[in-house]
Amino acid sequence: MPVDLTNPIFHDEDKARAHLEAQRWPDGPVCPHCGEREKVKALKGKAHRKGLYQCGRKSCRKQFSVTVGTVFERSKIPLHKWVLATHLMASSKKGISAKQIERNLGLTYKTAWFMAHRIREAMREAGASPIGGGNTVVESDETYVGGKAKNAHKAKPIPKKHAVVTLVEREGEVRARHIPNVTAKTVRDHLVTKADRKSHLMSDESQVYIGAGKEFAGHSAVNHSADEYVRLGGFVHVNTAESFHALVKRAIFGAWHAVSEQHLQRYIDEIAFRWNHREKLGIDDHARANAILRAAEGKRLTYRRPHGAAHA
Ligand SMILES: [Zn+2]
Repeated sequence: MPVDLTNPIFHDEDKARAHLEAQRWPDGPVCPHCGEREKVKALKGKAHRKGLYQCGRKSCRKQFSVTVGTVFERSKIPLHKWVLATHLMASSKKGISAKQIERNLGLTYKTAWFMAHRIREAMREAGASPIGGGNTVVESDETYVGGKAKNAHKAKPIPKKHAVVTLVEREGEVRARHIPNVTAKTVRDHLVTKADRKSHLMSDESQVYIGAGKEFAGHSAVNHSADEYVRLGGFVHVNTAESFHALVKRAIFGAWHAVSEQHLQRYIDEIAFRWNHREKLGIDDHARANAILRAAEGKRLTYRRPHGAAHA
């Protein structure tokens, strides 16, 4: 089911809040301060802002709303705009620019930019479990993004390219990481923490995989130079990882344009989230957006907002 923009959760503040509450608290409100579920009451009447609850636990007694402890906390942006921006980002396969969010939602550019980064923070799969396992194939490949020489002025050095190492289980999930440089150590660190060593590892013939490959149940290397993409009846390839890299590049060139090294991981996390919640796994646009809204809990932005940006 595609995103239906006439849905009132995108226009009506009360409906948006109820939607957010249904995602975060399917069994009724839970105090984010102490975890109380039973003694929670809604504060009604003109004296209180809407969506406010009071915890009845004696040691707590705190008030809260559905945004407390989420990336939406202390935001002046109406909730229906958060819900709409989340749906737009969830459903845009090629990525959506802050410029487009600015226009679609009637916000300033800085607010749209900051909002998109908060939603990306919700999409970060914190502590995601290792992929692969017995009888599965995990592909690993590296790519370099940014630093297009075409745009570099003669007087300026060509911008630096940034390395990304991608691990992906065939028919499964992806774990992609920006690494400062591709070495046997940085690649191994990603491999052994994000892939189950019972997997069969598939990589290119780069030296960086030789040691780490021995730690896996099996290891095959694709010989790109010999045009040997398809060996052993199509078993030896890293086409899945290359498909993921194509998505990263398409979004950077098509929607985001310039991605600084500081924020690169967030952009990669956004694409990885859509990959891990993709249509083929039975997750439609609406379900993917709701997964982001649920994942907004317990996340914080740790970097400072850009200079001069209004508090979004
Ligand atoms: Zn409480």
